[in-house]
Amino acid sequence: MSARPMTSPPLNLADALSVLFEVGECRYDRDLHAGPDHPEGEQERAARVQVAREVCGLCPVRPLCLAYALTVRPATGVWAARTAEEIGHLTGTLPKLAEVA
Ligand code: SF4
Repeated sequence: MSARPMTSPPLNLADALSVLFEVGECRYDRDLHAGPDHPEGEQERAARVQVAREVCGLCPVRPLCLAYALTVRPATGVWAARTAEEIGHLTGTLPKLAEVA
């Protein structure tokens, strides 16, 4: 028996985003994860991000959300309990697809 490398099918971004919007716990209060449309103080932001992380902790589609965020590399918001900055740091440690293909 020969071993085959474990691979995942490519993520369909439109389908993934649809699922996140329909099933994600953040659907009840999008501003909590996206941030307000007005300037936010440091303490206010920290408190909001903490609550958003807690909501993500209860979310049934968190793995999909992380896969989506790692692919899209969002510039703002909280995704799968991680800020966009944290997602950026994670993706910075991963090889790009072109480098492993
Ligand atoms: S993991 Fe968090 S950001 Fe992602 S869909 Fe769920 S609640 Fe929303």
